[in-house]
Amino acid sequence: MSLFEPTNDAAPAEAPAPTCVNCGSLHLSGRTKLPLCEPCRAGLVKFPFPLWVRVSAVVVAVMVCGSLALSREHISGALRLKHAEKMMREERWEEAFQGYQELLNKNKDKKQGDTDMMLACAEAAKNSGHYEEAARMLDALSGRKATKMEVERADSLGRELGYLIKQSQPQAPQAPLPFTGAQFLPSVLR
Ligand SMILES: [Zn+2]
Repeated sequence: MSLFEPTNDAAPAEAPAPTCVNCGSLHLSGRTKLPLCEPCRAGLVKFPFPLWVRVSAVVVAVMVCGSLALSREHISGALRLKHAEKMMREERWEEAFQGYQELLNKNKDKKQGDTDMMLACAEAAKNSGHYEEAARMLDALSGRKATKMEVERADSLGRELGYLIKQSQPQAPQAPLPFTGAQFLPSVLR
């Protein structure tokens, strides 16, 4: 027996030809190092997870995104409200008015809880010279359920607003008035 005689006749039996782990096919794909035939490899690449896993993942992703968006909206709304309230306290009426208006425009279906916000908005509007907007806000409040305090607040706001609107309207040129005793008297005293 020569030293250089090949002795590898047992090798093939020890390592059987690899087959596809999925279907047992002998024709392995050349596009992957994994023991898979080409159809199984392609199928696995296309659908690496069972359908129910993918559907669940999509549902979870949608829920997470939805709740994130909701809480973000919630948080930004709360921050806006805090800012508007701060502007009110600092008597920066224009900024307060803009802030409240933006908040109220966001939830068009004005809920009962917004009464306070609407009153604050009307106050800020009045104080920043937006009399029309303030009046419209008060109009929108009518017919709502409100606490006694809210009604009082709205009433005094309405009275003030009525006075301010009258003041702001250009005065009609005064027609010469006939003298009466009552009108004559003060100028005599002057
Ligand atoms: Zn296969």
